[in-house]
Amino acid sequence: MNANVKPQGATDTQLVDKHGRVIDYVRLSVTDRCDFRCVYCMSEDMTFLPRQQVLSLEEIYQVAKAFTELGVKKIRLTGGEPLVRNNVMSLVENIGSLPGLEELLLTTNGSQLEKLAGPLKDAGVTRINISLDSLDADRFRNMTRTGKLDKVKRGIEAAVATGFDAIRLNSVILRGRNDHEILDLLEYAMGLGINIAYIEEMPLGEVSDHDRLDTMVSNEEVMAVIGERYPLTPIDMTTAGPSRYYRIESTDTKVGFISPVSHNFCDTCNRVRVTVEGRLLLCLGNEHSMDLRRVIRENPGNDEILKAHIVEAMDLKPKRHYFYDKDEPQLVRFMNMTGG
Ligand code: SAM
Ligand code: SF4
Repeated sequence: MNANVKPQGATDTQLVDKHGRVIDYVRLSVTDRCDFRCVYCMSEDMTFLPRQQVLSLEEIYQVAKAFTELGVKKIRLTGGEPLVRNNVMSLVENIGSLPGLEELLLTTNGSQLEKLAGPLKDAGVTRINISLDSLDADRFRNMTRTGKLDKVKRGIEAAVATGFDAIRLNSVILRGRNDHEILDLLEYAMGLGINIAYIEEMPLGEVSDHDRLDTMVSNEEVMAVIGERYPLTPIDMTTAGPSRYYRIESTDTKVGFISPVSHNFCDTCNRVRVTVEGRLLLCLGNEHSMDLRRVIRENPGNDEILKAHIVEAMDLKPKRHYFYDKDEPQLVRFMNMTGG
């Protein structure tokens, strides 16, 4: 078991890494598949994992249960597109009922939300992030390669009507593509009374569509565009992640800037990820990992052995990540494999 000293306040979690960081947030990827092929996330021709390599819904639940028993309070379901996995709602309901879990979050492209927003709330999902990069139907189609804007907008509006604790749009801004829509996207969020986060493109996976160094728009640039029309007031909203939040006076909308490339947020990192292959990734930008699928399949039904491995894996969590440093190779893992 992990012999690391627990920092103050870490009484009810057993997950503490070598650098004293408490891990109480897990992002679980429930599928690598998706109905979209966003240009920054996937290549046009993707090969998805064979079924045998993918954790079953029961195995994903076993992982979620083990983490909550180790003190994890917050789980985010992501992918791939989590809502396209068969029977995913049974998994959401089961995870939503886990004792000790305080927040169940979801990141989705919105394509299934029109029919699933209500059932997701009933299953215990508290907050939803919905990706939206363009309000122009042709450009939306172009950036997602397959997506239909109308359907996604109906999904977003269904989520708003359902009344989650918070809804946030996620927009990846690419130069020459949607960088002139920064204000339109913000005003759409303001009109619905929901939040928006601008995400810098990360170098995850080799994409066929563009050279990322040409298209990456820094959040400083996005912030400058917004600041010209809407003064931004910083708010103290700690997420222990790469986001900084601002308020726009006399609106309900908070604006987040997620800057994994230009800002280092590793000191306060409280999270790990589990891929749909059961690989426990200790850091978004590094390959340090543990194969939980092997542990589960070699020890069927044994939660204690699984938990012992998770505790042990905390020692592998690196101090920080580097994306574009010269001596480090660019990662080959795609975002849909990583669990965004
Ligand atoms: N399919 C869901 C969706 O699109 O919201 C969940 C998975 S997706 C991988 C999660 C988030 O990662 C999305 O908001 C997407 O825009 C973002 N994303 C994907 N590839 C990215 C990249 N290379 N850089 C930055 N963000 C990326
Ligand atoms: Fe699918 Fe989300 Fe990746 Fe787009 S960002 S291809 S919706 S997994």
